[in-house]
Amino acid sequence: MTVASILAHKGSDTVTVSPDDSLKAVAGVLDRHKIGAVIALDGTGKLAGIMSERDIVRAIARGGTAVLDDPVSSHMTKKVVTCTSKDRISSIMRKMSEGKFRHVPVVDSGKLVGVISIGDVVKRRIADIEMEWQAMQDYIAAS
Ligand code: AMP
Repeated sequence: MTVASILAHKGSDTVTVSPDDSLKAVAGVLDRHKIGAVIALDGTGKLAGIMSERDIVRAIARGGTAVLDDPVSSHMTKKVVTCTSKDRISSIMRKMSEGKFRHVPVVDSGKLVGVISIGDVVKRRIADIEMEWQAMQDYIAAS
């Protein structure tokens, strides 16, 4: 099972921000879209970083609410682990577990085509397990 099968269900719509946007603006974006992270793209559309709700909480814990006026670029993670739509879901789970993060941008030929969250992965795994269980039940009932 590949990342493409998750994107086929959830779509490729990706919420992005500019590295110059403020943390306050990003908090609003996360709230409006009910998501936990956004991708920052530079002026040329290249992936510049990722900012999750954890980065905002951490920044406030260290600098107080004044940091809400800081630009995303000063608190985002710049070294982003990405995947391609051809990657297997098991390899994404490994990346999330080893890196201790819950979001992985999907980049095909240098273009951002989606974001996979841990919620997407769990949903997909549950659906797969239920399908396998049903197939097993059908097999037992037929034999
Ligand atoms: P998350 O669990 O996704 O909320 O993110 C936890 C921390 O990991 C935050 O500092 C994020 O900026 C960072 N992070 C999230 N996703 C990635 C990723 N794909 N690659 C590198 N860092 C990430």
